[in-house]
Parts: sequence; structure tokens; C-alpha cells
Amino acid sequence: MPLKEENFPDILELMRQAAEKRVEAPPGGHRVPGLWRTLESFAETNPPAAVLASWRHYAGEEYGTVGNFLRATARSAQWYPCLSAAGCGNPHDVVALEDGRWLARSQEDQRYCPAIWLTEPELAIHELDVERLGVELCRALGLTSARASQAVTSAPKAWRVGTFTATQSPVYLALCPSEGQLLLNLESLMTGCGEPFILLAPTARYRSELIGTMLHRERCAFLPLAPCLAPDGAGFRLTSPVRPILDRFAAGCVPHGPTAPEPVINPKPAARPEAGSRGRLRWENDFADIWLGDERYDLRERTKARLCIQYLYDACAFDQRSARHFEKQIDPYVRKHSKLEPLPNYAETKLHHYFNPSRGKLAKLGRELIRSAGRGTGRYFLNVE
Ligand SMILES: [Zn+2]
Repeated sequence: MPLKEENFPDILELMRQAAEKRVEAPPGGHRVPGLWRTLESFAETNPPAAVLASWRHYAGEEYGTVGNFLRATARSAQWYPCLSAAGCGNPHDVVALEDGRWLARSQEDQRYCPAIWLTEPELAIHELDVERLGVELCRALGLTSARASQAVTSAPKAWRVGTFTATQSPVYLALCPSEGQLLLNLESLMTGCGEPFILLAPTARYRSELIGTMLHRERCAFLPLAPCLAPDGAGFRLTSPVRPILDRFAAGCVPHGPTAPEPVINPKPAARPEAGSRGRLRWENDFADIWLGDERYDLRERTKARLCIQYLYDACAFDQRSARHFEKQIDPYVRKHSKLEPLPNYAETKLHHYFNPSRGKLAKLGRELIRSAGRGTGRYFLNVE
């Protein structure tokens, strides 16, 4: 039956109200979770599933992309999302009426949370087509997609989606609603897989320190998708380089089988002179020793801080105009060349983290030497004058 506006005044009016509310809301006030968080939120089932209204509501503007990877199931929802901006926010119970229609009723005060009339198609649960999503993710990330994505029997929230060609290593996609679930599925993968692998996940929010240690110990790579891929029409586009993570993985994992190609190793940085200086900054031993004025800093154990300063120096970033972008330029360089460091939490790295702890001597160096090119620019330079 075609959806006619006059048949469903309640739901359309509510949607209109919700849309108006969103326009009026201050930025950040009513933020929708977006596509990546939605995939995690709906991952209580395998694969993630919900009614279309929920997918739309949670994914917001990014529904245009995620909708492309959904398929209808024969199952019907027992509850329906609250669509009223001023409503209860809780799921409404779905009740069948004698005339064949359906009603989603709030448990709360119905003056603020009117019941929603529904048709059977609107109650159909739509699940994520992980196979199609896997193919698109591999395309966007430059990985080889698996011929058919397969759920792993022992790890029900993980799917084999592809292969990293350079080392012939498996690539898995984990869709987990909690840290506990990610841990369980990861343990099963590690037991069953028997070789280093790359784990994709929508975000890094459930990658705890414990999980990070496990991944590091097993020489596995963790690649959160939200910082590197943006929804773009029917698919995704790369917004941040993933090569540093993949290169580091290749350098750390031993290729299996006699025909496996050599892992990709980065060339060594070009030879540089023994020492140098500019303004009040002086350095020796490849930036392992730094002087700012009369104060000396030993950066032998602080690879990231050292690489950051060295990069800005080599790039002649000494003023606002020549400042370099942290996420696009500085951090990828530091990552690429600091292979000895443990895997960082990619989603949350900030330049000052290189100089932590914040009350330490190194933080003072960071504050005095590294300047922002202006709020919101994301660019930094060496203040040597
Ligand atoms: Zn409600």
C-alpha cells in the first residue's frame, strides 16, 4: 500500500516537529550519533538491525549512505523509537489493533509523547548487509575484499571482509555494542586465526588499554573507521591516510607462506648533518638532544616529541604562514617513523600528547617551542624567535 500523507498525520507531524527542533537547536545540542556510532549502537544483534525509522533517526544526515547497505528481513519490531523531540525518548511498545493497524504507545505521559500509527512495512526490521559494506570499506581503504564476507563462528560480531595484499593477512570487521563484546570477539579471533590480522571497527571508543595491549602483543592492527572514512553518497571516501597504520602492521608482522611478498618497509629518512640551529633552537644527534636557549632536553626516550620537532624543522615551519597541519601532515609523519611506539589511540591523538605528562619538563618545551597558527586551524609551527 502506498504511503499517503493523510493516512499518517501523527507520524508526519512528529517528524516535522522533530526536524524543526533540530534546526532551532544550538550546534552540538541535539547531535545525532551518525553512521559509525549507529553501527555500534545497533550491534546487539548480529548483524546490526533495527526498523528504518531508527536507522534514519540515529544516522541523521548519514542515513543516505547507511541506507544503501540495509536489507529488509521478515522479522517485525516489538517496539518503535520515540520520534517526538519533546517525547520520552524511550522505545514505544508496539500493539496490534483489531482493525489490522499497529500502534506504538509510550509508557509515559501521552500528552508529550503521542502514540504513533504504523503500517506493517514500517515495522519491518532492516539489517546491515555486512558483505556489501565489507566490499565498499575494502575499496575505500585500498584492501582486497573477500569474495564473500563471512561471519566467524566463534566470534559472532566479527566478519572476515578482506585481505591486506602486502602480507596476505586477513582483515576483519568487528561490530560490537560494548567494550566487553569487543574483548570477547577479539579473544576468539586471536585463538582461531593463528596469525596477525587487521581489525576494522566503526570507532575507537571500545578500544581499551587492555584491548590495545592484546592487539600489540599479537602484532595485530586496529583501524577505527570514523577518523579515516567519511560517508560519501552511496559509499565512503578516505579523509585521513591509513598507510602509516598498514605500513607499521606490515613491518611488525611476519608474512606466512613461501610465496608471501616482503612486507612494505619505509625508506630511512634522508641523511642530515650532525647538528644545526635556528634562532634559540639548537639540536644535535638527529634531534635526540635539543636546546631551547640554555635549557637542554634529552629526547632519546621521547620519539614522538622528537619526530614532531624534527618534522617541523625539516619543513621550515617557523611562522604562521609555513605552519603544518597536525592531522594531515605532522601526525602521519610521526606515526610512520615511530614504529617502536605502541599503537596509539588514533581517534584521540593531539599534538600536546607527544609532550605529556602536562606538568613535566617536556610539556614546558612543547608549550614554549610549538605554537598554534590560530584557533581551529589545526596547524602548528616552531617558535624559535
Ligand atoms: Zn516517546
